[in-house]
Amino acid sequence: MLRTNTCGELNITNVSEEVTLCGWVQKNRDLGGMTFIDLRDRYGVTQLTFDMMKNSRLCKKARELGREYVIQVKGKVIERSSKNKNIPTGEIEINVLDLTVLNTSRIPPFTIENNTDGGDELRMKYRYLDIRRNPIKENLILRSKVSSETRKYLDDKGFCEVETPYLIKSTPEGARDFVVPSRMNEGQFYALPQSPQTFKQLLMVAGMDKYYQIVKCFRDEDLRADRQPEFTQIDCEMSFVTQEDILNMFEGLIRHLLKEIKGIELNKFPRMTYDEAMKIYGSDKPDIRFGMKFVEMNEICKHNNFVVFDNSETVIAINVKGGASFTRKEIDKLTDFVKTPQIGAKGLVYCKCNEDGTFKSSVDKFFSQEKLNNWADKCKSSPGDLILILSGKIDETRKSLSKLRLHLAEKLKLRNSDEFAPLWVLDFPLLEWDEDTNRYHAMHHPFTSPKEHDIEKLDTDPKSVRANAYDLVLNGNEIGGGSVRIHNQKIQKLMFKHLGFSEREAQEQFGFLMEAFEYGAPPHAGIAFGFDRLCAIIGGQENIRDFIAFPKNNSGRDVMIESPSSIEKEILDELNIKIKI
Ligand code: ASP
Repeated sequence: MLRTNTCGELNITNVSEEVTLCGWVQKNRDLGGMTFIDLRDRYGVTQLTFDMMKNSRLCKKARELGREYVIQVKGKVIERSSKNKNIPTGEIEINVLDLTVLNTSRIPPFTIENNTDGGDELRMKYRYLDIRRNPIKENLILRSKVSSETRKYLDDKGFCEVETPYLIKSTPEGARDFVVPSRMNEGQFYALPQSPQTFKQLLMVAGMDKYYQIVKCFRDEDLRADRQPEFTQIDCEMSFVTQEDILNMFEGLIRHLLKEIKGIELNKFPRMTYDEAMKIYGSDKPDIRFGMKFVEMNEICKHNNFVVFDNSETVIAINVKGGASFTRKEIDKLTDFVKTPQIGAKGLVYCKCNEDGTFKSSVDKFFSQEKLNNWADKCKSSPGDLILILSGKIDETRKSLSKLRLHLAEKLKLRNSDEFAPLWVLDFPLLEWDEDTNRYHAMHHPFTSPKEHDIEKLDTDPKSVRANAYDLVLNGNEIGGGSVRIHNQKIQKLMFKHLGFSEREAQEQFGFLMEAFEYGAPPHAGIAFGFDRLCAIIGGQENIRDFIAFPKNNSGRDVMIESPSSIEKEILDELNIKIKI
């Protein structure tokens, strides 16, 4: 070893020990008689001192050290005269007796401090320098902990980690596949897995019983701020289980992670059906850390000559605690917000519940004080609160109000990242109508089983068929989702039919799975967690990018290695690929 200790572990108990440390020069301060250097490694920062009086040659050498030089020092641990209580090594320093420069460094393009001056793109280009910064480094360490605790929990429960291939044939998860040309099979392509879905089901047919894998998945989607083209899942499947078994097993996993990593004991996770979630929160991934539940107001809002309400399919309110203190300007801003294209509402009706028991609304012309009082009763509003109302078509109004609800929660700082509010959302619809292709898609995936008593409705009222599908939501983010699978070949065929696959197409794409189902497929069910997002939320953040060592930017590019990139003509020829230039 080039060192006896790390830069994060020496303290007052080590005083007078002779040590050797290695690391990067974080700061170099020359105070004339003395030179101080902050030496950094993954474990922390230790202060080094060089005394001009005692060893001028060494001190001069120290002064020359630039930021991020890599050095090795030998010296003695001494007690500091001015202590820094903010860091674990702050009571000591190293009186350096020998210094070796292990490597020099160019001046880094941004400061390697907790708060850096580097913009996103620059940080990505020099990600290896970005990772030297505490916030990113800590995120990666947290990620490693989450994965080792996941393995511990699942191993302990008898799960077996099995690797499934990356070069496969496309699985229909609803996104586009990344494809890889095959040199040996001219004109043919592999697809990178969007998830190991079919393989994990085959492993159940194979009798592996309890499978998991922390696995990379690939989806060629248009990127949103919190999506990555390659991401990691904790992918799981179990045989001979019911939905209830899966919910309990994986609720256990999330509790284990929060307990081991954050020291937080979570209560039993609440559950809600998809229909309830949409009705109460306008979202299938509601953030339940705060209230502002939807209140349906049709009965008391319609038939008052206010045509906007009268012509609406639905009128829905939320109560904003303490919102009566919002200024005119703030309310105008909220109105502008709901009218933006992303929210898509036509307008916002408000009613302030004044402290003196009176009401002030934007529709005073149509609604008397008595009527507004009824609103307040219905919304359980107290003096000082603000009632906000959107109206229109049901689906759109719910969606818009859900976004307003989140917007207000941000504004009022109700989304506390130290609080963890999990929620199971159950009974998702089996099918989802797709306007673009004019047909039904599986809302989860084609292997999800319909509720048994709904199967007959597949022909008559496909929209109303519910699935044995569930999502785990944490603080308003979908962190996991899964389903009880179809294990009966006939139902699987029926499902393909309803998804608009001809028999030939179904055979071509999933013949292998349907054939496997002819050899004794056990009842099985599973779930997959978005690992990157889970880590981000446990880390109290929402952006997954800072929890991935080498992420892609918003255009799906790795700006550090400059990928994707063109490839040599010879390679293209070998693959028999012609591209237009
Ligand atoms: N394969 C599914 C997904 O990636 C999860 C599951 O059903 O287990 O969303």
